[in-house]
Amino acid sequence: MNNRSILIVDDESRNFDVIEAFLNEYDYELNYASSGQEALESLEILEEIDLILLDVMMPDMDGIEVCERIKAIPKYRPIPIIMVTALTAKADLAKCLNAGADDFISKPVNDLELRARVQSMLRLKQQYDALQVSLDRLLVLEAEKRELLENRNAELERQTEEAHLRANTDGLTQVFNRRCFDDRLQKEWRRVMRDQTCLSIILIDIDYFKCYNDFYGHLSGDDCLIRVAQTAAKQIKRPDDLFARYGGEEFVVLLPNTNIDGAILIAESIQQAIRNLNIPHKDSQVSEIITISMGIAGLIPTSDKSPEHLVALSDKALYGAKEQGRDRYVVGIP
Ligand code: GH3
Ligand code: MG
Ligand code: MG
Repeated sequence: MNNRSILIVDDESRNFDVIEAFLNEYDYELNYASSGQEALESLEILEEIDLILLDVMMPDMDGIEVCERIKAIPKYRPIPIIMVTALTAKADLAKCLNAGADDFISKPVNDLELRARVQSMLRLKQQYDALQVSLDRLLVLEAEKRELLENRNAELERQTEEAHLRANTDGLTQVFNRRCFDDRLQKEWRRVMRDQTCLSIILIDIDYFKCYNDFYGHLSGDDCLIRVAQTAAKQIKRPDDLFARYGGEEFVVLLPNTNIDGAILIAESIQQAIRNLNIPHKDSQVSEIITISMGIAGLIPTSDKSPEHLVALSDKALYGAKEQGRDRYVVGIP
């Protein structure tokens, strides 16, 4: 701990000398101000004052006013003030206390009394400072704890979101997976059932993909699946639409609030986008490049039908597209 620092305010400097002599045996740092104004300025300049000895009778600004002014400034309020006064009338001493003084010593100053009062006030100030340090540390700890908790919550939220996304994403192609499609199909079915709008799906299957694997190798097959999936997924624009890998080399598009005509437009744009990829497929019996077949189905749900019915309908249409020669789409008739 630094030396305790005391500010002695008295218009007569020889009173300072007397106090200095009385406190001589202690390691206090003594500062002197010869007026109230100077005292206020000293408080500004000096880093830390632990105690003020304040003369009451001074020209210009008396000790009572100085005391009031100091105590009015929040950062100085904890500094104890001992009034040093020749006044002994009860009313005068009451004024000192009302002004916020913590104690008083009568003039002429008695050395023992001075030491006792100074020591007890400094002890109080020291306890106050220690408490303040603890409080500050507590506040810092509290803030740190809060930040830690916030960070942990944010991280947890991120991990949950990531896990959810991973659980719904196909590992190879990075489009949504079957599980995600199944969930969304149930949800959208209920929704369009309420709204009585059309729900459409497109089932997509790559033509002669077994031949592709056999001809180019399984790894090239994987690459082809990734490119087809990524390209087809890009053709889906509306936020409620969903493109997912249905399994193997089959994909599915879920189109809420979309009728057959709308679904056909999407199917045609997917078909064109896959053609534009121009992926060679020497062993295909329908083309020189990778092509797809699609089954489209759409209906306004009724309680006697199920989502599975809609999928079966598009599956049948897809089968029809394969039957009719592949590289095309067929619309299922409900
Ligand atoms: P069709 O035109 O009638 O659809 O003929 P196809 O050969 O595409 O149909 P089939 O269902 O006989 O073959 C699908 C092939 O897709 C067989 C399978 O090895 C391949 N396949 C499924 N999943 C993957 C995969 O993740 N990676 C690779 N490389 N091939 C896959
Ligand atoms: Mg297939
Ligand atoms: Mg196929």
